[in-house]
Amino acid sequence: MNANPPHDGRPGRIETDVAIIGAGPIGLFAVFELGLLDLKCHLVDILDRPGGQCTELYPEKPIYDIPGIPIVTGQELTDRLLEQIKPFHSQFHFSEMASSLTKLADGRWLLTTDAGTEIAAPVIVIAAGGGSFVPKRPPIPGIEAYEGNSVHYAVRKMEQFRGKDVLIAGGGDSALDWTLNLAPLAKKLTLVHHRDGFRAAQHSVNRMRELVNEGKIDFHVASVKALHGAGGALEAVTLQSPDKKEWRHEANAFLPFFGLTIKLGPLADFGLNLHENLIPVDTAKFESTTPGIFAIGDINTYPGKLKLILSGFHEGALMAQAAFKICKPNEKLRFQYTTSSSSLQKKLGVS
Ligand SMILES: Cc1cc2nc3c(=O)[nH]c(=O)nc-3n(C[C@H](O)[C@H](O)[C@H](O)COP(=O)(O)OP(=O)(O)OC[C@H]3O[C@@H](n4cnc5c(N)ncnc54)[C@H](O)[C@@H]3O)c2cc1C
Repeated sequence: MNANPPHDGRPGRIETDVAIIGAGPIGLFAVFELGLLDLKCHLVDILDRPGGQCTELYPEKPIYDIPGIPIVTGQELTDRLLEQIKPFHSQFHFSEMASSLTKLADGRWLLTTDAGTEIAAPVIVIAAGGGSFVPKRPPIPGIEAYEGNSVHYAVRKMEQFRGKDVLIAGGGDSALDWTLNLAPLAKKLTLVHHRDGFRAAQHSVNRMRELVNEGKIDFHVASVKALHGAGGALEAVTLQSPDKKEWRHEANAFLPFFGLTIKLGPLADFGLNLHENLIPVDTAKFESTTPGIFAIGDINTYPGKLKLILSGFHEGALMAQAAFKICKPNEKLRFQYTTSSSSLQKKLGVS
């Protein structure tokens, strides 16, 4: 894997078979399916690392429905996908947003990023999930000063919270899941929510209430009104109950989980006949209504669509077959199994 490689070919312009927008699990597996067909890929992602939602939102949470892998965390799945696509030497452009797409005179597409990278390719694969997701910031004055230091919108490393006074706010799955996961590590863990009702899975809510009854965590019906500390290091917060009583609560880590705002961003302007911010595709090729532009994973829509990783893997396999016909119109596509094809095994470096 090469991150942000120098441009090749014409100065300032990269030439490749397929440009993939999004290095989430589906963009990564697409590299594998395309690689088996000798198609070279460049991937662009706004984030600074691969994995999409898996590494951004739940790196340490287990996934149980990846075929053949009974349990794998978001980070482990990403690591395994990266291992699987290693033989294909795809090139990554991290921390860059795909910002425009134009048709070249020779029929190929030109994808441009906000960093000025230009990628010319006959096939564009949009694997952009829900677009770029940004956590909703609670309306607490001065919270920006604590972000990344004491205020976190995602848990990258659970160990970071060991021995801390942790305050979690929210009533959805993220708030409840992290309450349960961090309770054993934190010195003290407090959950606050503005009402005594939750959107999270009932079994998580039940478990949280058990922990409260056992005296292992605290729960308050309250909102966070102010943060107190210095230099980005949180010392305490002001909590307010529904009847407007306020009190000071010691905390040195604050995790607000108020949901995510998904911003489709520039993809909305790619002329793709969007339906509720999703790209309609056919289910034979997963091509959009614009020839040569495919959409796989959470970003697409079709009758019966399930936003599951395994669905996106399937979509990537069919997309690759169609992409081959565009990239290599004069070559015959042979269906082969990795188990028995020596030519596929050679590509994978296993023969
Ligand atoms: C808490 C949680 C638990 C989940 N558990 C499961 C589970 O158990 N099983 C399961 O199958 N699924 C699960 N999912 C859903 C699963 O994570 C998604 O279906 C999967 O991540 C979709 O992959 P993707 O590659 O299509 O999109 P994403 O993972 O969203 O990746 C898209 C990537 O595209 C990038 N991007 C977007 N727009 C641009 C742009 N303009 N330029 C550059 N880059 C861009 C984003 O930065 C992102 O990295 C879960 C989701 C969550 C939030």
